Amino acid sequence: MRFTDLHLIEPLLRAVHEEGYVTPTPIQQQSIPHALAGKDLLGCAQTGTGKTAAFALPILQRLHGQPVPHVRPIRVLVLAPTRELATQIGDSFRAYGRHLPFRHTVIYGGVGQNPQVQALRHGVDVVVATPGRLLDLMQQGFVKLGHVEVLVLDEADRMLDLGFIHDVRRIVSAVPKKRQTLFFSATMPRDIQQLAHDILVHPVRVEVTPTATTVEKIAQSICFVDKGEKFTLLQKLLRDPAIQRALVFTRTKHGANKLARQLEKVGVRSDAIHGNKAQTARERALKDFSKGRVRVLVATDIAARGIDVEGITHVFNYDLPNVPDSYVHRIGRTARAGASGAAIAFCSPEERGELADIEKLIRMRIPVMAGYEGRFAGAREGGYAGGRAGGYAGAREGGLAHGHAPAHPPRQVHGGGHGHGHAPAHPSRPAHAPTQGHSHPPAHPQRPAHGGGHGHAAHPPGQRPVAGRLRGRHRRGR
Ligand code: AMP
Repeated sequence: MRFTDLHLIEPLLRAVHEEGYVTPTPIQQQSIPHALAGKDLLGCAQTGTGKTAAFALPILQRLHGQPVPHVRPIRVLVLAPTRELATQIGDSFRAYGRHLPFRHTVIYGGVGQNPQVQALRHGVDVVVATPGRLLDLMQQGFVKLGHVEVLVLDEADRMLDLGFIHDVRRIVSAVPKKRQTLFFSATMPRDIQQLAHDILVHPVRVEVTPTATTVEKIAQSICFVDKGEKFTLLQKLLRDPAIQRALVFTRTKHGANKLARQLEKVGVRSDAIHGNKAQTARERALKDFSKGRVRVLVATDIAARGIDVEGITHVFNYDLPNVPDSYVHRIGRTARAGASGAAIAFCSPEERGELADIEKLIRMRIPVMAGYEGRFAGAREGGYAGGRAGGYAGAREGGLAHGHAPAHPPRQVHGGGHGHGHAPAHPSRPAHAPTQGHSHPPAHPQRPAHGGGHGHAAHPPGQRPVAGRLRGRHRRGR
């Protein structure tokens, strides 16, 4: 199926084309026709599946089909749990609607409200908001929802997790009953099912089962390491010949250049790709990487957006991203096209907050690579009593509370909601299996320290993780 089969109007098709999308993702294929028909939707899909376009495109089409009233009331309200997600959704509306004359604004807490109030006064068709601030502005009389025609709840389960469910219900009660409601959630716990039941009318249920598997399929591991030791560690891990093609993420352009240079110095063919490099240099680096002339490509998030290279066996998070979604996008560069892959993250004591955010997002604890538990080997396995200066105490939420190794296997991303069978750990998957009997035991990404080998059964045929193959990342806030 192509986008042209979805009966989208030309300005949207053009925008989608400019984004570099060729085929609609499964959630888009399933949702767009129903959403265009005005139906309510109950979508079981997580971020990374293309779900934003699944609701934004039909909404934009609907807005376009109707006359613009003189005073622009809010006609579309999108609720999202976090500021980051709200901003990303806003960016998506901007990108997909770039050839349409609509107005939108994003509302979230933690910043001054005046610019948001100004934008609302100006009149907007689409408001993307986090519940707390929206409610606040509603109570102050700055937001009127009496003309809302389409209500979107995105990542409903996270709104529940973050304690927004009552706010959400209050907001929903201020929206006219006669409306279209599009409801998305990665998991469907009972409270979410109840909420969906209460606010949706005869919804069409759309589900993309393999969504979470982008994360699940990848053998993830983490090494606790001091900042100053990261290079030595990388160098050591790279001795493993199973690491054929590695993408290494750094936070800064400068860091990327420096690391690529350091690697070259020690004989590892590498190059850096980032925003400061000329387009031709970037293209050359990518070509060398995909042809195997360069084994390690060091990248920043922004530069990595367009990277579409098959056969990346390993993704290293040399620096942890401070936007947790980036972690999922980074590691999704491996495990493409049904292949498996490995993702190894380095976490220095300074980055423990980032790690906690990532684990919260992916809803699992990343197994620690054996030998890299940090200075205090027992930190996660109960052996560390806490309180020692400079240590990894509290390196991650609850990190000290576990008394024995298997007590905290990585949690399934979807909380079991999709009926994935549990497969045994996948120590022998070639894509990430370092050579057995190799002389560098620590380079065994698939051997989590706590034996957390909770892989998942293979995907249904023909289905593969979406985030890993999506392109056109126009909006990741990096
Ligand atoms: P989302 O799940 O909406 O956060 O989307 C994840 C990523 O996929 C974003 O970077 C989108 O730009 C991208 N994307 C969405 N739809 C498509 C598509 N049909 N083809 C390629 N990339 C897409």
